[in-house]
Amino acid sequence: MLEYDVVVVGAGPSGCMAAKYVSKAGASTLIVEKSAELGEPIQCAGLISKRALEESELKDVKPFINNEIKGAIVRSHSYELRIEVPSPEKSAFAIRRNVFDKALAKAAQEEGADIILGGKLKNIIKGCGGEKQTLLVDTVDGKEELKATVVIGADGVRSSVAKLAAMTVTRNYLNCVQVEGEYDADEAFAEIFVGRTIAPGFFAWTIPLVAEKVARIGLCTDKRCSPHSSPMPFLKRFLAEHPEIKGTHSGFMGGAIPIPASAGLQRRMQGQSTVKINDGNGIMLVGDVAAQVKPITGGGIFYGLKCGKIAGAIAAEACLKNDMGVLREYETKWRAEIGAEIAFGLKVHKLRCILNDGDFDTICRVLSQEDMLQRITKHGDMDYQALAFREFVKNPVLFKLTARNIIKYLYAKRRLDI
Ligand SMILES: Cc1cc2nc3c(=O)[nH]c(=O)nc-3n(C[C@H](O)[C@H](O)[C@H](O)COP(=O)(O)OP(=O)(O)OC[C@H]3O[C@@H](n4cnc5c(N)ncnc54)[C@H](O)[C@@H]3O)c2cc1C
Repeated sequence: MLEYDVVVVGAGPSGCMAAKYVSKAGASTLIVEKSAELGEPIQCAGLISKRALEESELKDVKPFINNEIKGAIVRSHSYELRIEVPSPEKSAFAIRRNVFDKALAKAAQEEGADIILGGKLKNIIKGCGGEKQTLLVDTVDGKEELKATVVIGADGVRSSVAKLAAMTVTRNYLNCVQVEGEYDADEAFAEIFVGRTIAPGFFAWTIPLVAEKVARIGLCTDKRCSPHSSPMPFLKRFLAEHPEIKGTHSGFMGGAIPIPASAGLQRRMQGQSTVKINDGNGIMLVGDVAAQVKPITGGGIFYGLKCGKIAGAIAAEACLKNDMGVLREYETKWRAEIGAEIAFGLKVHKLRCILNDGDFDTICRVLSQEDMLQRITKHGDMDYQALAFREFVKNPVLFKLTARNIIKYLYAKRRLDI
């Protein structure tokens, strides 16, 4: 039977980074990944900031960078807003997620982490009287039993760890679909299409790739404000309304993005935490399973890498000091880093759920005015979005629009459960 200080379930960005930081701190760790191939299947648009790239600590970035993105064009039904990044520091990159995940796993292994591919976690049995907990894993060769003092659940939106440990911290999800296709657009600009009839509760996107006129084309919807539970009818309509964007079924994928629980929902879920301590053992959740994502854009790679580092270092410290009380610092530390951003993003997301197409037109019209564009360029940040959004509401038109919709939101809150 294999025995470790920490077993990390899931070899996505959060899990690989957590394992790397466990090893770095001197504790033993193993990653268990259910896919036989790292990074597959891809469920991501693969757009990350330069800051996220740096957070990955990967030196050789060429193999996974597909394209440098120097700005965004935001389109509502009647208006268009072109935002250029003011400096290379603020640029973004379209990455090949599968190659990126492989590189992160390799970095964790180089730091000392072991890895089992094709190993699916089936159960966690509590340790009694100071015994380590046991993980039952189905592998390609049969069944494996693993012992660990700390289990880090980094197994994504449909986490087994969260279910087995009764630690579900989120209840709502955005449903997403994406295809690849031809799109003859500016190669350096991602495009965002906003509108309730385009993608209720979110937006549609095109992300240009370096290959000739090819883009990732997708959208997400929040079913709480959508007439359809599936996003597929919206993608079909989006492609039909934009014949210039020729989405094909190549690279088709569907996925889900967790929407973090609001403070109110957390209370109703009885203060569910991302840490559980049990009889000398511990369980921690990191990344998508902990809803460590930006509610406005759905991006989770940067936060997952950040929180993976925190989780890994704290798990190792708890094991080395033989004091599981140390694990409690995890919740406090990650919330101190990104909690306020997530809480603010959640408010923006909720408001977006009730805006109509006319509201989105007004927002795009106002933001395309010269002074507003300058403010967006100055304060806009892919990873920390609150500052730019606070600037928007200083504009009297947008202030009024927000105030009107806050009242609408309060009426819709109970009905929509948002
Ligand atoms: C359509 C779409 C587009 C997105 N676009 C972006 C984007 O452009 N930029 C961005 O930053 N974020 C994006 N995201 C979000 C991003 O993909 C996630 O936030 C990120 O992958 C989270 O990383 P993670 O390591 O927490 O989980 P994951 O990457 O989901 O990794 C979890 C791993 O756990 C494994 N696993 C699951 N269950 C088990 C089990 N029982 N046993 C063993 N292994 C298991 C899975 O196979 C998987 O490898 C997008 C998401 C979607 C759905």
